[in-house]
Amino acid sequence: MATAVVHYAAAAVTDRGRKRSSNEDAFGFSVEHGVYVVCDGMGGAAAGEIASSLAVDEAMSRLTNRDLKVEPQLAAERAIYAANEVIFSRSQRNLSLNGMGTTLVGLLAEDRRVWVINVGDSRCYRLRASRLEQITLDHSLVEEQVRMGRMTPAEALRSSLRNVITRALGTQSRVTPDIFALESEPGDLFLLCSDGLTRELSDAHIQSLLGVDQSLDDLCARLVNAAKKAGGHDNITCLLVRAGT
Ligand code: CA
Repeated sequence: MATAVVHYAAAAVTDRGRKRSSNEDAFGFSVEHGVYVVCDGMGGAAAGEIASSLAVDEAMSRLTNRDLKVEPQLAAERAIYAANEVIFSRSQRNLSLNGMGTTLVGLLAEDRRVWVINVGDSRCYRLRASRLEQITLDHSLVEEQVRMGRMTPAEALRSSLRNVITRALGTQSRVTPDIFALESEPGDLFLLCSDGLTRELSDAHIQSLLGVDQSLDDLCARLVNAAKKAGGHDNITCLLVRAGT
């Protein structure tokens, strides 16, 4: 018996926030190809913007044109290595871009199976049955200290080191992404976001904002507006992906 293919729907918003003069976040998605990516760039002058847009472009291009005979896990790894190489080699060629890098959080969906890809401290959450769960681990110094029991979550929030990320795309010649697969259930809502959202809003607040019956576009706007109201200190990006029945 043939099984119906799961359809996904998506929407995204990115916003400069209220304090920054530029937006170093970038996103891309293709519902048709099941590819969804959010990046948060870093580096002096325009370097952060360049790094995040190079990463989105390279990952989108690799994953939407992927050879379907290649395992998705492997295709995702190759896309990450290619994006890393593009950014790293550009920064080696141009002194003013030296040290630029970006986070990347992404999803690759094929029917019920979803591969989650992560480098850095952007996050993927899943809202299932009204309960929000963070499903990526932050590659940040303070979060790693918390996971090792050397720092409490409250100390992590106050730490002067909370901007330090331990993995990024493009800052070194090699990178190790987290990539893992999970099964989506009908109605699952995935949120990919930059830290400009999660620094301003608690998980409980995000859960309550997503717990209303509105379009994905409206839900993205709710999240971004709430983060701006809470201060909007950083660029804010939200990409929502809903699994159909
Ligand atoms: Ca940020």
